Amino acid sequence: MEPPICTKCRAKPSVYHRAYSGERLCPDCFRESLKERVKRTINRFHMFEHGSRIAVGVSGGKDSLGLLRLLAEIEEETHGSDVVAVTIDEGIKGYRDEALRLVGEACSGLGVESVVLGFGDLFGTTMDDIASRERELSTCSYCGVLRRRALNEAAKSVGADRLATAHTLDDMAQSVLLNILRGDAGGMATIDPGGGSLEGFVRRVKPYCEVPERESALYAYLSGFEFQSLPCPYAEEAMRNDMRGFLNRMEAKRPGTMFVTFNTGLKMIPTLSKGEAMGHCRLCGEPTPGDTCRVCQLLGR
Ligand code: SF4
Ligand code: ZN
Repeated sequence: MEPPICTKCRAKPSVYHRAYSGERLCPDCFRESLKERVKRTINRFHMFEHGSRIAVGVSGGKDSLGLLRLLAEIEEETHGSDVVAVTIDEGIKGYRDEALRLVGEACSGLGVESVVLGFGDLFGTTMDDIASRERELSTCSYCGVLRRRALNEAAKSVGADRLATAHTLDDMAQSVLLNILRGDAGGMATIDPGGGSLEGFVRRVKPYCEVPERESALYAYLSGFEFQSLPCPYAEEAMRNDMRGFLNRMEAKRPGTMFVTFNTGLKMIPTLSKGEAMGHCRLCGEPTPGDTCRVCQLLGR
């Protein structure tokens, strides 16, 4: 049987059924609609200003490489801002090495400047070191905190005023549920797609927050670029995996569940009260609400 015709151009056969909207799209219309979606998200959350310098956190996976391509395209068309790729090398042998090659190739193809910053240079340790030591917390807990700092440092080092990360709609919906299940109301701040401006932090934005991971994967496939699909050897976020499974099942039963979850989470983002002004870490001098920042605590400085 012939596939149904694209509901947008009404000319070409569709390859994708977008269950939450009822559209059936051909490859060209799908890619175009994804770009329009990202543009709309950028406007909805007022992410950039004219002349912004955007550091895009690129890991080498499908989501970040797709976002880099789309932002480079959008900014070239609108002559709005310039884009630079920042990559963090956590020091994970056999895993990060391949990703670094893919990022390098993608950036030279797109004509985008690319900068790599390593945990080793910044913290004097690597994830391989940390994983081999006795620890109280999971590997990912360390990695998440250190990578956040490293991305901020990398963005500052290239003079960026925005730091774009490729969190997808799925990541956002999972985070909403995780925050609820952990009782972490304050954690809801991390899903803010437009980012707040806090002194010492490059403003973080998430232009992929309304792109389902499935569509990010299809975009990568239809664009034909190479990306890393090898999972990290330390991946162990058990609870997030549970949320992923649950949300995927719900989305299949009730299309649109992830959008509803994310949009509900947005209404729960706490606003920093005036009394909670940032101070500086007594050890490293970086901004923190307490007297020692999380990085120094975790590294046992
Ligand atoms: Fe880091 Fe965990 Fe991601 Fe591996 S899976 S890169 S350890 S956060
Ligand atoms: Zn079409």
